[in-house]
Amino acid sequence: MEAPDRDYSRQSGGSGKVCKEAERPETMKAMLLDEPRTPLRLRDVPVPEPGATQVRVKVAACGVCRTDLHVTDGDLTQPKLPIVPGHEIVGRVDKLGAGVTRFALGDRVGIPWLGHTCGVCPYCRAGHENLCDDPGFTGYQIDGGYAEYAVADADYCFALPEGLGDVEAAPLLCAGLIGYRTLRMAGPCRTLGIYGFGAAAHIVAQVARHQGIETYAFTRTGDGEAQAFARALGCVWAGGSDEPPPVPLDAALVFAPVGALVPRALEAVRKGGVVVLGGIYMSDIPAMPYRLLWEERVVRSVANLTRRDAEEFLALAPRVPVRIHATAMPLSEANEALDRLRRGDLVGALVLVP
Ligand SMILES: [Zn+2]
Ligand SMILES: [Zn+2]
Repeated sequence: MEAPDRDYSRQSGGSGKVCKEAERPETMKAMLLDEPRTPLRLRDVPVPEPGATQVRVKVAACGVCRTDLHVTDGDLTQPKLPIVPGHEIVGRVDKLGAGVTRFALGDRVGIPWLGHTCGVCPYCRAGHENLCDDPGFTGYQIDGGYAEYAVADADYCFALPEGLGDVEAAPLLCAGLIGYRTLRMAGPCRTLGIYGFGAAAHIVAQVARHQGIETYAFTRTGDGEAQAFARALGCVWAGGSDEPPPVPLDAALVFAPVGALVPRALEAVRKGGVVVLGGIYMSDIPAMPYRLLWEERVVRSVANLTRRDAEEFLALAPRVPVRIHATAMPLSEANEALDRLRRGDLVGALVLVP
C-alpha cells in the first residue's frame, strides 16, 4: 500500500479564524475502509473539526478490537462508508467545541465504542443506554481512531487512570469495559470459565482474581502459549476448549466468536450456572440437546456498554491493578494488525500508534 504523500501539505497561512492553529496540519493520515472485505487504505483526509458538544483528540494510540474485524469483514452490516475504524482511542484533547466544559485542552482522554445515544428512547430513559434505539458507535457509524485525529462527543469520553502509558491504556476502552460488563453479567461466582483468551480475557482474568474468583481459561486446542499466558495472569487452570474443566463452573464467559463453544460452556457450568457471550458477533450456535440448558442454566449476551460501566471499570482498573500486555504497531500496518488478530497470532492486545 502506498501513502499518497503528494497531497499532504502543512499549510499555515490564509485562514484568520484558525490562526492559533497555524502549526497544525490541515490534513491527517487515516486508515479508511471504503468497502467491507477490502483492505484499509492509508489516505490523507481533512483533520476533523469538533462540533459544539465535541472534543478533538490528537490520537496517541488506538487498540485493535475483534469488532473492527467484524466491521472490515462485513459481518456487521451497517457501517458508515467510508469509515475510519477503531474504538479504543487514547489521545489528548487539542480542540474543544464551543459548549464543552467537561475537559480542557491537553487532557488525556479515552474514546470508547459507545459514541452517542439518543437520550429519549425507552432504553435510554431506563438506564440501559447500551441498548439505545438510535445509537452511534465509534469506528462503525462515527469515524474512529485509526487516524492521527478523532472527534468525539465529550459526554462519551473518559479521563483515564494514571499509571498506564497510552498504548497500555487503549485496550481498557473496549476489551476492558465490555469485558468488565460481561463479568458483571455473570453475577456472583466462585469459579469462572473464560473461553477465548484474547485481549478482553487477559483483563477480565486479572479483575476476577482481584475479586477472589478462581478462573479457568479455555484456549484453542494446543495453544500452549495462550495457556501459559493465562496461568501467568493468575488463572488456576488452562486447557483447550474441547476439555472439561476440573470442577463444575458457576459461570462461563465466551469471548471467542465461535458458536460451537456455547454448548461446551453450558456443559461446563453447574446447575443454575450462567453463560455470558461477550462478543458482538458469533458464528451460528449449533443445535443442542435441551438437557444442556435444563436445570436453570442461563445463556445471555452482552451488548455494548453504558457510561456507568466505563466509570466503574476505569475506577477499578488501577486498584486491581490491571496490567496490559500490548503490542504496538504503526498505524500504516493496520491491515497486518487485523490479519494477526484474525489468525490469533498474538498474546494480549494489539495497539496502533500513529
Ligand atoms: Zn436511546
Ligand atoms: Zn471493541
